[in-house]
Amino acid sequence: MSKTIAGAQRLGRIPPYLFAEIDRKVQEKKKAGIDVISLGIGDPDLPTPKRIVSVLQEAAADPANHRYPSYFGLADLREAIAGWYHDRSGVELDPATEILPTLGSKDGISHVPLALVDPDDVVLAPDPGYTVYVTGAIMAGAEPYIMPLKAENSWLPDLDAIPADVARRARLMWLNYPNNPTAATADRAFLERAVEFCRRHEIVLCHDAPYSEIAFDGYRPLTLFEIPGAKEVGLEFHSLSKTFNMTGWRIGWVCGRADLVSLIGQLKTNIDSGIFQAVQWAAIEALRGGEEETQASCEVYARRHRLVAGTLNSIGWKIQPPRATFYVWAPVPAGYDSIRFASHVLDQVGVNITPGVGFGAHGEGYFRLSVTAPDARLEEAMMRMRALKL
Ligand SMILES: *Cc1c(COP(=O)(O)O)cnc(C)c1O
Repeated sequence: MSKTIAGAQRLGRIPPYLFAEIDRKVQEKKKAGIDVISLGIGDPDLPTPKRIVSVLQEAAADPANHRYPSYFGLADLREAIAGWYHDRSGVELDPATEILPTLGSKDGISHVPLALVDPDDVVLAPDPGYTVYVTGAIMAGAEPYIMPLKAENSWLPDLDAIPADVARRARLMWLNYPNNPTAATADRAFLERAVEFCRRHEIVLCHDAPYSEIAFDGYRPLTLFEIPGAKEVGLEFHSLSKTFNMTGWRIGWVCGRADLVSLIGQLKTNIDSGIFQAVQWAAIEALRGGEEETQASCEVYARRHRLVAGTLNSIGWKIQPPRATFYVWAPVPAGYDSIRFASHVLDQVGVNITPGVGFGAHGEGYFRLSVTAPDARLEEAMMRMRALKL
């Protein structure tokens, strides 16, 4: 038998990183002294509210927080999450059994197939979508099955198009509303159909909901457990990253059906050793502080969305500002594919946007832009876009 030092085969099965080419170009431009404005990444530019930072500072100085934390999170944190969920959605969650804090929701999302899916089982994943749904399935040796999201279906998957044999082999379905990258939202009727489908086929319904609070003009996205019967098959993944501008802090949670939450907890005891307790106290402060700050962030995003829609519409697009998320998802002009269009915008006006195909083959023909750049930078970017020659 011959053997060489090399990467594992499972890494080779992960789709190539399609942003690599664009990233290389951005670095080149920056080196050449060009002022590139990045609207590529969904990472809030607004700071974490001060009261949350203050609690972290105090908690970090307390030796009681310096030791290994509990694997399952502080009881106070699980209670704060249950309280937040109840105030937000009117739904009861048992803090002892139905909630598990995670190191950001990516931790829960990437690991859930290892806990719930066997090799060669099917994981249903939306495309375009957050790429971790597919890579997490591949890491677990499972087979991702793509559910295309299309404009004509309002970016909701067509559940009736899932072949019967695929549904039979599927153990897990990913949904994500409000959606990254399309900014689409799901109505009650669709979520009810999804719950019914997953109950009928005995599939775990995993709803990734980091944008549940990033919504505008009074729109309030539904959380999964507002749908009757959802807890019998469902898990929901939440994050403090987007709601409280805490992407760097790494804290979120998974909640839902108790035996499934427990299995994820069991897996995670073998992977990490919990969340720095000072960060947990800061999260408790965040969740108990009301919605005022998040509302203020949303007003900033809504204003920026109007600026972007106004700019794009003035140069030939026909888009509406979205009802939720800090993303703009728009078609590329005729004659371009998404990578060529993103390169063109970067070359011509030094603005970095994300080609839709980076979120999966069905994202081709679109681009994503994030309004998480400071106002002055976004205004400058939009001024440059007005000069774009197609
Ligand atoms: C940002 C994001 C997450 C992950 O956020 P964390 O920082 O890991 O909590 C998960 N899913 C989607 C769709 C996202 O956009």
